[in-house]
Order: sequence, then C-alpha cells, then structure tokens
Amino acid sequence: MKKIATMTLLGALTIPAFAAEFVTIGTGGVTGTYYPTGGAICRLVNKYKKETKIRCSVESTGGSVYNINTIKNGELDFGIAQSDVVYQASNGTGKFDGKQVKKLKSVMAIYPELLTLVTRKDANINGIADVKGKRINLGNPGSGNEATALTLFDASGIKKDDLSFAGALKASEMPDALRDNKIDGYFYMVGHPTANIKDASNSVDVKITPLEGSNIDSLIKKYPYFAKADVPAGMYKGNPDATPTFGVKAVLVTSDDVSEKAVYTVIKAILENFDDFKKLHPAYSNITKKSLLDGLSAPLHEGAKKYFKEAGLL
Ligand code: GLU
Repeated sequence: MKKIATMTLLGALTIPAFAAEFVTIGTGGVTGTYYPTGGAICRLVNKYKKETKIRCSVESTGGSVYNINTIKNGELDFGIAQSDVVYQASNGTGKFDGKQVKKLKSVMAIYPELLTLVTRKDANINGIADVKGKRINLGNPGSGNEATALTLFDASGIKKDDLSFAGALKASEMPDALRDNKIDGYFYMVGHPTANIKDASNSVDVKITPLEGSNIDSLIKKYPYFAKADVPAGMYKGNPDATPTFGVKAVLVTSDDVSEKAVYTVIKAILENFDDFKKLHPAYSNITKKSLLDGLSAPLHEGAKKYFKEAGLL
C-alpha cells in the first residue's frame, strides 16, 4: 500500500491536505471475469474516496497463483483467487507445498467459477479422456486454470505428456489460438458468461465439453472446495444446453499487512451498494450477502470481520 501525502496549494501557502491510501486489486486477463470484477469493486470503493481517502485501482495479472504470491510480497493489496488455490496457499499444499502463506486472509467469496474445457468442434473431444493426443492449453504459470487442470489430470490418470502439446498461453491469447487452429482446446476456470469464451465461440465452432464421471465425483468428494455445477445453457453460440462440470468460488483475498480500515472500506462499499454491485456482471446473478461467506478457505481479515459483524451477517 502506497501512502502519498497530497498537498494543496493555497496562494503562496502550501498546506498538507490528507494522506491518501492507494490500494490495488490483482485480477486476471482482461477478457476474463476477475478483471471486470476488480473494476466493479473499485468503482464502488472510489465512490467514497473523498470521505475515506482510499483510492482503488485494478491490475490485469496472470491469475490466482500470481495474485497470492504478489500479495505475499506486498506488491498487491488485494487479489481475486480461486478458493482451491486459496486453500492450498493457506495450508501449504498443492501449488504451495511447503510455502504456506500464513498472512493470506479472505475478504469475501464473490461468485462461482467453473472449470471449463472449450474445444474446437472439429477436434471431437467429448470428455476428459479424449484430451490424450490433443493440443490443449492448460494455462500460464501463475494461473488458477493451470493449477486446477493439473489436479483434474491427476485425478483422471492423465499426464501432461499424454497431450501432443501442453500450452501455457495466457487467458487473453487462448481464443485466437483456438480459432487459428494452433490448439484443439483450452481450460479456463472462470465465471460465466465471460467475454473470453464469447470471443472464441463467435469466431470458430466451439464445444463446451462436459467434465464428468466417477473420477471427477471422487475428486469433488475428496476436496471440500470443489462442487458440481453446470455451465448454464445458451451462454455461448452453438451451445444451447447446460454442460456439467465442477467449480470453486472466486474469492477476494488480502493479507494481514493491509490495514483494517482499507479492508473495512472495501467490503462496506460493496455491501452497502449490493444491488448495484449485482447488476455489474451476470456472473453475480445468484449471489446473496450471505453467500459472500460461503467458500472461504483462508481466515477472514479483521477488517472484513468487523464489517460483517456490524451488518449482522456474522
Ligand atoms: N480463475 C482464473 C485464474 O485464477 C482467472 C479467471 C478470470 O480471470 O476471470 O487464473
């Protein structure tokens, strides 16, 4: 967090005005759902900047793992991250094996995001077993997509080497790569509908490929942060039916290094404008004030606790 003392120039007199706190939210690729979500949050926070002296800005990043590592280093104040990745960071497992991020704290669980396998129709991929021998983008290092796709591979007995090409393109590059036939499909853990998959489905025939079966059932049973869900019907061109898969929650996270006041201000701005917030993206259509507390896999930050208590939600 950068504190900048601003000065007001009054004739020949220079007097210190106030110390503004600048907070930055790490998100994901610009065509994903994290980026507009960061924008929606900052819009509400900045509505009160005169009174609170807190100014919010958004950064496009590589995704969940990057956001948590960068919050840990103190270069980001907030970030959006998948609840499975938050769990791993908070407990020092998976991607964060031996690298527990103790100071990582939750602010709120925002909306569900679903592991989505977007494939070219002409690639004939009808389920997870069909990815063998295909060119599949798993996600850039630092993305949550890559982390969850590899967890799914593990559970399904599939190795990266079973693919003819394991891509590490970042989210914003995936739709063009699919259209240009450089890949047969890509994984994206994302809230729907997303501009990214709309772009893909508007430029090539795509299939939202079902991710289901006994291996996936066992995976969901094993990890509390996974839940079954459907990509809703009719979200994307050529995909009129709901598609089964599984997902997590997109969680707003921060760290103990960020002030109680900043966290309190952010959560208060969202909750006091909750109906307006919900209108800012269709991925929020089913969320409630109570659901913001479901799916948190790191402890709540003191500032968030304070507001949720005041609001009678805790
Ligand atoms: N869940 C993705 C990730 O952590 C990002 C999704 C998005 O940007 O909406 O990499």
